[in-house]
Amino acid sequence: METTAAEEVTGICRDLLRIDTTNTGDQSTTVGERVAAEYVAAKLDEAGIAYEMHESAPRRANLVARIPGADRSRGALLVHGHLDVVPADPREWSVDPFSGEEKDGYLWGRGAIDMKDFDAMILAVVREWSRTGYVPPRDVVLAFTADEEAGMTYGSEFLVRKHRDLLDGCTEAIGEVGGYSYTVNDDLRLYLVQTAEKGLDWLRLHATGRPGHGSFIHDDNAVTALAEAVARVGRHRFPVVVTPTVREFLRRVGDALGIDIDPDDPEVAVAKLGPIANLIGATIRNTANPTRLEAGYKDNVIPGRASATIDCRTLPGQDQAFLAELRDVIGPDVEIEHNHRQPAVETEFGGPLVEAMGAALRAEDPGARTIPYLMSGGTDAKAFATLGIRCFGFAPLRLPPDLNFAALFHGIDERVPVEGLKFGVRVLDRLLRTS
Ligand SMILES: [Zn+2]
Repeated sequence: METTAAEEVTGICRDLLRIDTTNTGDQSTTVGERVAAEYVAAKLDEAGIAYEMHESAPRRANLVARIPGADRSRGALLVHGHLDVVPADPREWSVDPFSGEEKDGYLWGRGAIDMKDFDAMILAVVREWSRTGYVPPRDVVLAFTADEEAGMTYGSEFLVRKHRDLLDGCTEAIGEVGGYSYTVNDDLRLYLVQTAEKGLDWLRLHATGRPGHGSFIHDDNAVTALAEAVARVGRHRFPVVVTPTVREFLRRVGDALGIDIDPDDPEVAVAKLGPIANLIGATIRNTANPTRLEAGYKDNVIPGRASATIDCRTLPGQDQAFLAELRDVIGPDVEIEHNHRQPAVETEFGGPLVEAMGAALRAEDPGARTIPYLMSGGTDAKAFATLGIRCFGFAPLRLPPDLNFAALFHGIDERVPVEGLKFGVRVLDRLLRTS
């Protein structure tokens, strides 16, 4: 008997978890992505699916494949997953984070939900297609990327910059982070589909002053000026702004939970939402968090310059307003340098693909209801959206009601329910066949 995608997915996910693809953000210690890409290549080779592999730097491999659809005049659907993971400290874990151990109904390991689970689902589905000779309705483009976890420069941004032709004709994309369930009761599960992501702006503040000896009276100290600006930024609360996605999210959540939510007073609403509150707390305002400080080289020398890093996250459409407000908070004497900037993205929760997501979920879970949401973090979608592609977070997983899913992202004892993986494969297969 032929193997099915649902039978195969667990094994593929386990294999991927055993490949240590830790992305340290440092070229010399980020080495596993190539091994994982070669594994993916071998799985595609077995299925006779052609692909191209491109390194953005030594061992930083990205892989793209195109499966021709029945109607080649239609826009293609991009299905993407990153192969890298964030570091894991084995001393903190109850299993070896790179063992791919299966216990208590879960596969354990760094990357189990972020996002080797979806990588495995993609591979399992397309391998079944080629075993059975199935042709999808339109072109499906697969992208397996490096470097999602440290800025995307060597992954999706590299593909968009240097190999745009491989993504030709893609009109929509699905990837992380969405499609997972939040249980309201036995008969109702909300599946959160990501339709928007906050923008990212890692900026550096530089204060300058007069250098001098630490033993004198000194009234032009760069460290003091910087510290004052940093403290003001850290304590500043940006105003609440309700974007279209959040408005729609609140409307649908209120409806599902049977509670009254005033979308214009979302702070009250968030307080009523229990566990989902974590997900949206940061999606109703811009944020700016100081993360690094740098100044001085000797205990008794006042340096002429002091710098700080601020991690800023901006709502769709809020770039200019945010910067103007930040400038006010910082004051005129501290210089702002933009280090790494990715604008927010947002697409509408509507159209045939969105309908097909809902239908695919309901076919496998009659209690499923989809809702759009804005994510405060960022994904490869940011890079792909620059090509005009409508990006969705939809890596389907049915989760046990008591699992704190959000805490597992980059968390200790990251794990994915085996049944959830199989569910995900069935939903993904249905979606791709009907979109
Ligand atoms: Zn991820």
